[in-house]
Amino acid sequence: MSKRLQAVRGMNDLLPENAHYWQHVEGALRHLACCYGYNEIRLPIVEPTELFCRSIGDVTDIVEKEMYTFEDRNKDSLSLRPEGTAGCVRAGIQHGILYNQTQKFWYMGPMFRHERPQKGRYRQFHQFGLEAFGFEGPDIDAEMILFTARLWHQLGLQDHLSLQINSLGDKAERQAHREQLIAYLQQHHEALDEDSKRRLNMNPLRILDSKNPAMAKIIADAPSLLDCLEVDSRLHFEGLRELLDAAKINYDINPCLVRGLDYYSKTVFEWVTTDLGAQGTVCAGGRFDVLVEQLGGQATPALGFALGLERLVALLEQHCPHTVPMHRASIYLITDGEAAMKKGILIAEDIRTHFPKLGVNLHCGGGSFRSKFKRADKSGAKAAMIIGEDEIANDTVSIKFLREDKQQLVVEADQLQQVLISLTE
Ligand code: ATP
Ligand code: MG
Repeated sequence: MSKRLQAVRGMNDLLPENAHYWQHVEGALRHLACCYGYNEIRLPIVEPTELFCRSIGDVTDIVEKEMYTFEDRNKDSLSLRPEGTAGCVRAGIQHGILYNQTQKFWYMGPMFRHERPQKGRYRQFHQFGLEAFGFEGPDIDAEMILFTARLWHQLGLQDHLSLQINSLGDKAERQAHREQLIAYLQQHHEALDEDSKRRLNMNPLRILDSKNPAMAKIIADAPSLLDCLEVDSRLHFEGLRELLDAAKINYDINPCLVRGLDYYSKTVFEWVTTDLGAQGTVCAGGRFDVLVEQLGGQATPALGFALGLERLVALLEQHCPHTVPMHRASIYLITDGEAAMKKGILIAEDIRTHFPKLGVNLHCGGGSFRSKFKRADKSGAKAAMIIGEDEIANDTVSIKFLREDKQQLVVEADQLQQVLISLTE
């Protein structure tokens, strides 16, 4: 017998019974992006591998071990995108829409990382992100954070997420800190775990991001990058804090917040929750002022964030399952006999034209009245509209309310409009 076909491990199907959560979140995001003056950008899912090596960094987890990389038929090395920023910058440079101007983009779509699948961590997952180019900040840094704070409020999740911020300074400041950090970590070499030993000379900053509890004490006492900031970076960070304070956004400064991608500088932030186990970061971002130049464009300050839709939806399912609307056709139309079907199909079209908000789910495929009503009920419709022999003979339709304890109505053709209006309310 042949093997049962299955989806690729870590890549999920979204079934209709859960789709309303995604539609709700996606709708809120699209609306907010427009409210804040961001425009959509849609980019390819596959990019040249080199793009990610040159942006995310050769010695990051993503590029070292998580990318889906393959040779296509021309022997070009391509990769499924593991995140959205690199492609966005590539497109901005390619189309000449970054230099000497300001741009505010949003994107949404699937990303791919070959990680160990577990709750909140998948191999195909979805991100929504904002990217802004040409702004030095910190005004836009603060505004981007306000965007996310507003989103949590709209979704009813404001009490379940908290904000952490940090500044990674500029290259020279990171270099100064790097030397102090390496010296410090070398003193504690014995106590470092394998991962940290490996990173010590390649990417020591990332050691601060270690989730290994055995490393917590060493990390807590490590030299802080914030102490290495010079005037510019310090003022930028203070400016951000003042704006967040003015907007009454609570935050914690986390000097160990370093992010897993190499391109960040100055502001970095994360929204974290304690409700999703180990996968607690729902949204993460920061400045990447050197990335555009690094990828071959003219120097352009930039920042962005990405939020993981699976984790956001998981929070919604956990905390607000009843506030998320399911959009379904309000009317389930049942007919009996050929003449009724001919009439029913026209009435359904008519309602869809004149009451587009209602929606009509026309029963197709025959069956007994009982089975038709069963399906009407299961469809989630507010009311069943019935056209049988009697209704044809009297030029009426019957309405049975499925969610309310109201008596079935027999409605004359010229009164139907009134009933439909009442159903839209
Ligand atoms: P983590 O620390 O959880 O691995 P990360 O630093 O790799 O996150 P980013 O690259 O900054 O994450 O991605 C931004 C957001 O995308 C994360 O905060 C998370 O919500 C989501 N995300 C990242 N990787 C995955 C994944 N494999 N599965 C589901 N969501 C993910
Ligand atoms: Mg990761």
